[in-house]
Amino acid sequence: MDLLALLANIKVALAGDYRMIWPHDSKGEFTIKSFYTVLCEGSSDIDFPVDVIWRSKAPTKACFLTWAVPKGKVPTEDMLKRRNFNLASRCPMCRQEEEMADHLFIYYTGVSGLWYLSCALLGPDWVQPHTSGEVLTAWRRRTKRGWLQGIPLAIWWSTWKERNQQIFEGKARSYPEFKLYFLKTLYSWSQAINDGTYLNFWDFVDKINIDSARA
Ligand SMILES: [Zn+2]
Repeated sequence: MDLLALLANIKVALAGDYRMIWPHDSKGEFTIKSFYTVLCEGSSDIDFPVDVIWRSKAPTKACFLTWAVPKGKVPTEDMLKRRNFNLASRCPMCRQEEEMADHLFIYYTGVSGLWYLSCALLGPDWVQPHTSGEVLTAWRRRTKRGWLQGIPLAIWWSTWKERNQQIFEGKARSYPEFKLYFLKTLYSWSQAINDGTYLNFWDFVDKINIDSARA
C-alpha cells in the first residue's frame, strides 16, 4: 500500500481543538465534583483528609500530587518497579538510597529540612509521622488555618518539581535555594487567601508564625 496515498485521505484538525481530557468525567471536563469523587475512591483504608487539600488553595496539579503521594500513585522508582519497569533505582536527590515515595517526601535530607523549617516556623509541637499517609491527618490536627494546611502540599510539590528538574534537566538547586523555592511556592499560593491584602515575602514569613500561634 502506498503510504502517502493513504495519509492523503486523512484529515487532521489543526484548528484549536486540542484540549486536556479529564478521564473521570463523562464529558472529559475537569470538575471539582468528579475530582472529589476520585479523591474519596478507595480511601477508606486511610483517613484521607480531603479538606486539607481544599483549604490549601494550592493549584490543582499540586492537589493531585498530594492525593497521589499517600496512595502510592506517584511514579517514583519503587512504584515503577512494582509495575515491572526495570530500573537501576537510586534516589536522584541524595543518590544514596532507593527512591521510594516515603523516602522522597519525608526522609531524605532535603525534604526533612523543609519539614524541620516548617515546624520551626509553626512552633515546636510536631512529631514527624513515619509515612506519607499519616502526614496530612497529623498536619490537620496541628493547624486549623486553611493556608497553613497548604504547607505539606507545598513541601511535596517543591520536592517533586526539584526531583523532576534534576532527573530531566540535570539541574539541581543548592539546599538554601531549595528552601527558598519551597517558601516562595507557599507564598504564591497564599496570595489567593490573604483577603486581597498584598504581603511582601518577608511579611509573609512572619505571618506563618503569627497565624500559627492563633491556630
Ligand atoms: Zn534520597
